[in-house]
Amino acid sequence: MGQSELCLIAKAFAFLLLVPGILGWGKEGHYLICKIAEGYFTEDTLSMVKELLPASAEGDLAAVCSWPDEIRWKAHYRWSSALHYVDTPDFFCNYNYSRDCHDTHEHKGRCVTAAIYNYTRQLESAYKEMTSEIRYNLTEALMFLSHFIGDVHQPLHVGFVGDLGGNSITVRWYRRKTNLHHVWDNMIIESALKTFYHSNLTLMIQAIQTNISGEWYNDVSAWRNCALNHTACPNPYASESISLACKYAYKNATPGSTLEDSYFLSRLPIVEKRLAQSGIRLASTLNRIFASEVKVAEI
Ligand SMILES: [Zn+2]
Repeated sequence: MGQSELCLIAKAFAFLLLVPGILGWGKEGHYLICKIAEGYFTEDTLSMVKELLPASAEGDLAAVCSWPDEIRWKAHYRWSSALHYVDTPDFFCNYNYSRDCHDTHEHKGRCVTAAIYNYTRQLESAYKEMTSEIRYNLTEALMFLSHFIGDVHQPLHVGFVGDLGGNSITVRWYRRKTNLHHVWDNMIIESALKTFYHSNLTLMIQAIQTNISGEWYNDVSAWRNCALNHTACPNPYASESISLACKYAYKNATPGSTLEDSYFLSRLPIVEKRLAQSGIRLASTLNRIFASEVKVAEI
């Protein structure tokens, strides 16, 4: 290996270290969301998901829910990188599909909500017309859809364009230097695991499941609801996210600030509810796709 190659690898590695937070909910978050979702699959969804999963998943959707983060920087998949988020203009605490859904080159429809519509359509059309030629890689469609429904619920995946959804806001999480986006992707969940769940993800999943059938029980049918009988409805999820980003994520988290107990303990309930909502809504969306007589929302 030549010196220039080594230098390139070092630069790539340094870049990855600089941008740890642009991946979406961390591995734990995506695993948790898909585990929650699995508990609400209909028989039809369960068998279709099993049929579509790659062998490496060993029949478990949660095992591949972080796959889109693992491949997004590979040359072959770099196109997918802009599909993990949508940004609003700076200090706009609302989301508007036609204004906001584009990539940094202003290509319309290249954002997380459009990706959810797109992969829903691919799966739905293939499921309804089993006899027609399958034009898409449905295994990838399922893995992208399951991941992006998680991402659109992370408040800072619908953040301001100027700070890259909190990626350029350097903060300390207790003593560790990081950025605000990474706090919401990973650190709140990691600290919760250590502080409340003996570093055991299964215990955290069980606690969220208990809340779904207890404290949040009366809200769950509203979470499931997709207006006008549409199959997928990511737009309201994005609106909720930017509203939560303004109310909780950006609040008291200016560049250089240190975030400790008061931030952690007041934001953790928000994170846990967003994880629960993602899981319920992923299951409902897949259940609608694999039983589908209805249409995807017009965009
Ligand atoms: Zn992501």
